[in-house]
Amino acid sequence: MLKISMEKENKVRELVRQKFTEYLTANKFRKTPERYAILDLIYTDQRHFDMDTLYEAMNERNFRVSRATLYNTMQLLLECHLVLKHQFGQNLSFYERAYNNDFHHHLICSHCNKVQEYKDAELKTAIQNKKIKGFIPEHYSLYIYGLCSACARELKKNKKFNKP
Ligand SMILES: [Zn+2]
Ligand SMILES: [Zn+2]
Repeated sequence: MLKISMEKENKVRELVRQKFTEYLTANKFRKTPERYAILDLIYTDQRHFDMDTLYEAMNERNFRVSRATLYNTMQLLLECHLVLKHQFGQNLSFYERAYNNDFHHHLICSHCNKVQEYKDAELKTAIQNKKIKGFIPEHYSLYIYGLCSACARELKKNKKFNKP
């Protein structure tokens, strides 16, 4: 992951808070501290997450929110484009911050569902230079499925263990 200075992170958090406020005000939604706490957490240390990990992270910080509030807030954050959602089938969806997020692809472990960022200049240039007839590409993301190193290690170990 790219190192981003604390100062820059703080500025980004300030900016997304402003954007959220504008959105809530414009749509006459309530500006509750819970909503801002969720936004803050997402822009503090959550890169790719699902609802369960976000819920646990909120509780770890002693910020008790109901799942309903969490879902409701996430819906608002998606609507004002502060959070991106990736959906794979019915059961696997994860989220990430949308603002000040470096462009990256995704490596998804089919074993534990862990999502990692993947940056590759070669791929980026190849896709940027690709001309698609009758279509103007705006953005894209690539999902590469496989085994993460931890799962690969685990499977290897189990194989050894089970050998007759
Ligand atoms: Zn894995
Ligand atoms: Zn991502």
